[in-house]
Amino acid sequence: LKIVQDATCTFCGCVCDDIDLKVDVAANRITEAKRACVLGKAWFFNHHIEDRPEATIEGRPVSYDEALDRAAEILLAAKYSVTYGLSDTTSEAQRVAVAITDWIGGTVDTTTSVCHGPSGMAFQGVGEVTCSLGEIRNRADFLIFWGGNPAESHPRHFTKYSLMPKGEFVPNGRKDRTAVLVDVRKTKSAKAVDHFLQIRPRSDFELAWSLRLLAKGINPDPSVEQKTGISVETMRDLMDRMKQAKFGAILFGMGLTMTRGKHMNSEAVLSLARDMNSYTRWVAKPMRGHGNVTGADNVVSWSTGYPFGVNLGRGYPRFNPGEFTTSDLLARKEADAALIIASDPMSNFSQPARDHLASIPSVVLDPKLSETAKVATVAFTTATYGINVPGTVYRMDDVPIPLRPAFESPYRSDYEILKGIEQRIRQRQLGA
Ligand code: SF4
Repeated sequence: LKIVQDATCTFCGCVCDDIDLKVDVAANRITEAKRACVLGKAWFFNHHIEDRPEATIEGRPVSYDEALDRAAEILLAAKYSVTYGLSDTTSEAQRVAVAITDWIGGTVDTTTSVCHGPSGMAFQGVGEVTCSLGEIRNRADFLIFWGGNPAESHPRHFTKYSLMPKGEFVPNGRKDRTAVLVDVRKTKSAKAVDHFLQIRPRSDFELAWSLRLLAKGINPDPSVEQKTGISVETMRDLMDRMKQAKFGAILFGMGLTMTRGKHMNSEAVLSLARDMNSYTRWVAKPMRGHGNVTGADNVVSWSTGYPFGVNLGRGYPRFNPGEFTTSDLLARKEADAALIIASDPMSNFSQPARDHLASIPSVVLDPKLSETAKVATVAFTTATYGINVPGTVYRMDDVPIPLRPAFESPYRSDYEILKGIEQRIRQRQLGA
């Protein structure tokens, strides 16, 4: 039996790094995960080493070396390749994936393009008044959860970072905090907050903009009541309380970013937080889903200047969501090869995008035999990050966290495989 202290759970964007694991080394299984939530426990306990070939080419088992050669050939032959996924791997691997895309002049895109992509665009438009989750834990006395359901999607967010914990300036924890949920339906999170504002679907922008007006002492048009289902009186009351807070945080989810208005919704909420700083301290942060999707944004941003949907075909980065985002590139049948890392677009993209992906040569890295791995030209079986592989991931507040793996895997990591592909491509490009 082996004990791993302060292991990191990479199931969701909270990236809790205080999990104590008990590992049955002989059976390669985790038998206890102290402090993990129900989702984290499922993540740790369901992990086992699958008995699969280390790599396949068109379904035929091959060695890693043979698969690496073929993967490099596919990517070098492509005129318009797309690199996609990256939110469930280490930042070290993400960095190599961007380098490969740069060498071959392809497009690099992440799962952000189908979740918080609109927020990524909004940051560039209006900026972000931000902070760490540690600051929220220690300072926030007013919380607005908007378009998300942390009680079910990020179970420890409430207990470890936002709603419940005692902090330096909120010594009584929950009792020192006021919490509001804005959502279109009454989720489990509604029970945990003080005020639930049930807005009409597709009216987030109107509510955020009305609050901006009220912050500046301007009355919104009365028609906003009909649109949002919230009375101006309720909005005014909320704004008064927001101004009285010492430290407020708006934590928003995909219920805000992926509904009508998209990046305009994120911009409205980010602008609202910015405006509030004329009166008191307010921040706004997106609630991120996958374990290292924030790392993907960071790595692609510091490598290219943009967070996702970046084309490197002209030798310099171009950012254009819609043009360079993977689901669109595939649905328009533009990409002629794909490198998919730790993601399963065959399970969640549109039918035209899936049909095209299945028709082009693809290189897929995944610990599981996903639907995407099943149609891959070259499929690599990989070790799981966090459980078998060390490295770095970024928490949803952009704080990098180290991984402490539980047991080794017979398979290589994404980083090692991507390095092997990069080496081959670089040698060919440099004529070495
Ligand atoms: Fe894992 Fe998220 Fe649960 Fe933390 S909140 S233990 S990161 S699933």
